[in-house]
Amino acid sequence: MITIKSLYSGSSGNAVLIKNGSTSLLVDAGLSGITILSALKEIGEDPKSIAAILITHEHSDHIQGAGIMSRKLDIPVYANAKTWDAMSYTLGNVALKNIKTFKTGKDFEIESIGIKPFKTPHDAVESVGYSFFADGEKVTMATDLGHVFDGFFDEIRDCNTVLIEANHDVEMLRTGPYPWPLKKRVMSEVGHLSNECAGEVVLHAAQNGCENFLLGHLSRDNNFPELAHLTVCNALRENGVDPDKDLNISVLKRYMR
Ligand SMILES: [Zn+2]
Ligand SMILES: [Zn+2]
Repeated sequence: MITIKSLYSGSSGNAVLIKNGSTSLLVDAGLSGITILSALKEIGEDPKSIAAILITHEHSDHIQGAGIMSRKLDIPVYANAKTWDAMSYTLGNVALKNIKTFKTGKDFEIESIGIKPFKTPHDAVESVGYSFFADGEKVTMATDLGHVFDGFFDEIRDCNTVLIEANHDVEMLRTGPYPWPLKKRVMSEVGHLSNECAGEVVLHAAQNGCENFLLGHLSRDNNFPELAHLTVCNALRENGVDPDKDLNISVLKRYMR
């Protein structure tokens, strides 16, 4: 069984633990090494059980502690070649044996977990989402998703769990404190996914049998958990799906576990 433990999710830092049996993978390490290690301790996870760190893209909220975690735990960091080029300076010295490069779109395995990285539209050199496969289950995670691109619904087909970005409420973003260029960036095709768009994704996946949803990467200034949850549930209800009946929809906390 694949379990997901989110340590941090949001523009101030991201780190999500994917577990199957004795294998744990850390997706992104976007806070200081100390912060991530103490978060792991707090939830009773042994950092030594982490087999590898997988990076989605080179923005600092996803890589800040990746270098130090690799050095401290002597574990490999996986990313595509373009992302490695873009982030290697920030990561600092990573042992050659711990630099692992994958091809986006091509499956690989780490211990008992199958992994498929897929390309996502975002203003990074080659950002990816990940699907994880183990014990006949599939879990897909996609944050920092500028828009629901052609082919995304194929990536989430047959999922048991989808972790999807619900970054902002469009109205809050429009009227909120961000300067206009930043608003434009967030709303763009390579920015972040709104609650409304997350609702479309959840609806589609629910109509195709997926039952578990995690809403993540919420903006501190342009969203709040209840609103993200409500917007997604409304999208379901408007289309005849009862979110309270067969679905589990939860919102990942930005800081706490
Ligand atoms: Zn991010
Ligand atoms: Zn990003």
